[in-house]
Amino acid sequence: GEVVAETPVALDAPEIHIKVSSRDRVIFPESNITKGELADYYAAVSGIMLPWAGNRPISLVRCPQGRAKACFFQKHDAGSFQGDHVHKVPIREKDGSSEDYLYVDDADGLVACVQMGTIEFHGWGSSVETLEQPDRMVFDLDPDEELGFDVVKKAAVDLKEHLAELGLVSFALLSGGKGVHVVVPLTPKAEWPAVKDFADRFARALGEVEPDRFVATMSKAKRKGRIFIDWLRNQRGSTAVLPYVARARPGAPVAAPVSWSELREIETAGRWSVRDAAELIARAASRDLAGWGVADQVLPDL
Ligand code: ATP
Ligand code: MN
Ligand code: MN
Repeated sequence: GEVVAETPVALDAPEIHIKVSSRDRVIFPESNITKGELADYYAAVSGIMLPWAGNRPISLVRCPQGRAKACFFQKHDAGSFQGDHVHKVPIREKDGSSEDYLYVDDADGLVACVQMGTIEFHGWGSSVETLEQPDRMVFDLDPDEELGFDVVKKAAVDLKEHLAELGLVSFALLSGGKGVHVVVPLTPKAEWPAVKDFADRFARALGEVEPDRFVATMSKAKRKGRIFIDWLRNQRGSTAVLPYVARARPGAPVAAPVSWSELREIETAGRWSVRDAAELIARAASRDLAGWGVADQVLPDL
């Protein structure tokens, strides 16, 4: 795969046309982060986030009373968003029916979702323009609870190297939670079944070669002391957390792109939080992150 030199540049926070109510409501009680602060965070990072979060079907983790109270995962349009900044795209379901999914394409769209109680944005692996042809594949590394972050990092680097042997460039995303996602940008060409099949075989092969480290099946019992390579994010309709998303976890950690060399020095998947918008914006324009997530490549035969 050829790495393209262009990388999205950070913009100043754009003007927002959404009225955010209850700005002082505390959404993250552990660190006293309010709804207003969360809305301002998403407005601030919109320039670096939208290249990944814009124009693709999204699901929302909404926690109207804050992250420590009831949250729900919203996949479909509920018609309740302010203004016309949250768009709908009809998508054919397995049973042949059609459902409206949500997508945004600007900072107002992100903030309109926060206004409705959204904390997290999760995205499909394809854009609304090429819904049936994924533009990214992702391996979500889910470590068993007893494993330390060093083990996860080593696993991520190993996946990167195995992918490179197959000619694929990949990038590391701290999930903001426990793990690391290995992201493989794709030129939209192969359709969902082919991408899913590739991800399945790749994960399964690793599990077969190193059964003490990796497992490619969902079964919790088999995960003991191992890392589950969650390749199931790569089926049509599945989502994964998007870069710069705030997680509904204590301290408002965010999903953050890192370079492979930076990853060596990082000690937790929650290294940055909503309070670090300025640093995240500066980082996005840094040498380390130049070209992060960008590669013009298609899946080889496996
Ligand atoms: P961590 O590093 O802590 O694992 P993560 O974002 O990878 O963080 P996972 O639990 O491994 O979290 O991933 C679950 C994925 O499944 C999420 O990325 C999300 O897109 C999706 N998901 C989460 N909740 C739901 C739900 N209720 N229904 C369907 N999909 C969900
Ligand atoms: Mn995970
Ligand atoms: Mn997972």
